[in-house]
Amino acid sequence: MEKKQFQAESKRLLEMMVHSIYSQKEIFLRELISNASDAIDKIYYKALTDESITFHKDDYYIKIVPNQDDRTLTIKDTGIGMTKDELEENLGTIAKSGSLAFKKEVDMQEGQEIIGQFGVGFYSSFMVAEEVTVYTRSLHNEEGYKWHSNGQDGYTIEAYDKEDIGTEIVIKLKENEEEENYDQFLETYQLRSLIKKYSDFIRYPIKMDITEKQPKEDNEEEFIDVIEEQTINSMVPIWRKNKQELQDEDYNQFYQEKHFGFDKPLSHLHVSVDGMVRFQSILYIPEQLPFNYYSQDFEKGLELYSNGVLIMEKCADLLPDYFSFVRGIVDSEDLSLNISREILQQDRQVKLIAKNIEKKIKNHLQSLLKNDRDKYETFFDAFGRQLKYGVYSEFGANKDKLKDLILFYSSKEKKLVTLKEYVERMPEDQEHIYYATGDSHDRIEKLPQTELVKDKGFEILYFTDEIDEFAIKMLMNYDEKEFKSVSSGDLNLEDEETKKEAEKQLEEHKDLFAEMKELLGDKIKEVRLSTRLKSHPVCLSAEGDVSIEMEKVLSQMPD
Ligand code: ADP
Ligand code: MG
Repeated sequence: MEKKQFQAESKRLLEMMVHSIYSQKEIFLRELISNASDAIDKIYYKALTDESITFHKDDYYIKIVPNQDDRTLTIKDTGIGMTKDELEENLGTIAKSGSLAFKKEVDMQEGQEIIGQFGVGFYSSFMVAEEVTVYTRSLHNEEGYKWHSNGQDGYTIEAYDKEDIGTEIVIKLKENEEEENYDQFLETYQLRSLIKKYSDFIRYPIKMDITEKQPKEDNEEEFIDVIEEQTINSMVPIWRKNKQELQDEDYNQFYQEKHFGFDKPLSHLHVSVDGMVRFQSILYIPEQLPFNYYSQDFEKGLELYSNGVLIMEKCADLLPDYFSFVRGIVDSEDLSLNISREILQQDRQVKLIAKNIEKKIKNHLQSLLKNDRDKYETFFDAFGRQLKYGVYSEFGANKDKLKDLILFYSSKEKKLVTLKEYVERMPEDQEHIYYATGDSHDRIEKLPQTELVKDKGFEILYFTDEIDEFAIKMLMNYDEKEFKSVSSGDLNLEDEETKKEAEKQLEEHKDLFAEMKELLGDKIKEVRLSTRLKSHPVCLSAEGDVSIEMEKVLSQMPD
């Protein structure tokens, strides 16, 4: 038997593993199952090209066996196995792909984060194991080997007589500690739910022996335990299925299974991209606003898979803020399982995927708006504000992308319109896009300032949300038509004759206006004769950029 030391780098990683916090420990199972699946992939592809390997499809599987008496958990696969050299190379040092994130010196705190989110392969087993034994026989070998380690002082390798090709990893679980329950990894129910959570879409069956009570044949009153080998994972992820084979119900079902929301999705899109970057994605627009959507607690993000294996539950980098309501999953074979959060942010593939997804969502919303207006308005009721924030935020960087997705309530047909619709039906003599701000449609309706504009036959957009005016200030104009508040001082809608008449009147009543200004003092800037009033005696109007309502909002904002 040979005894060897782990490499320094591995040692440090092992320390971090052991100290990582409880809730993250469960990912060791995901890692070992992924390795098993990788190993089967390798033999599977070999068998495709090498006629001397006769392997039946049913022979490829992974089996999980808990043993309560020994406190062991075994993960067995029928994959390609490892030679002695491979054992040493692969389990004695951190695998190259996994080591990337640990090349930099990370402090314990950061390290824990990485483990929780991404896992780091085989070593993660030492989070839960007192000792780990690996029995393996390579496809290329007659003899097998046993690798053993307690994760602290090195490992041993010795010859071992293993009958079939493949690998068996036996984990001797740690004893329960005050706040850490390792027994859970011996419970069928818990193992099953972990397999479902992390490894449901592994392409090979993950089997477990399930004990079920069944009535006795001769006496239906009595029950006996029957052990049945069951496949736990569903294997083919819905996103890899052909769109033509899927119904709305299938997508709704998946939405529910994933707990994306308690509602039914309003709409979904199923994307398969095979270009600069390859990925599949299912994206949902929820019907209802999540209760915490407009609060700090809300976390945006999509579930991210690397080739069927979950690597992150909420990958925020995949969604821009203005589409933060979108829920769903992305699976890419171009991502590594061991990718860390820092790397993820700069990852070229992730950026490409995010760009692509953004475009897909935008087009989807656009076509919804065009082809199913009712649905779009339901969506807009819930999430329209977010789009308007999107126009306004980042100094308007995204305004052009979003300007055709926003709707405003309009005076004309008393319903929501797009800016395009507004502009397209503007009379020839109308130069601006008019809007009025107020607490409610009703109130705006009664504003004296709207009278002249309406009289002219011009349409007015009703802004009842604070963000409305901020958004259009950012837009500045649409199709070269400027936005103008009906309460701004210089509407300039009167004809020449009225203007002349007004000047005359102003001259005649000069003293009256001076008196009024004197009485009102600093509360107003000036008293003017207005030509726009019809049925109201007086109105307030604002000078310059902001309407009176916007000034109110601004003055309420904390400095
Ligand atoms: P990674 O999977 O990113 O390469 P791991 O630490 O998970 O890193 O695994 C290290 C290496 O050990 C794998 O690349 C593989 O070569 C080998 N290995 C691990 N588990 C198995 C297994 N069940 N069968 C065959 N080889 C394995
Ligand atoms: Mg691995």
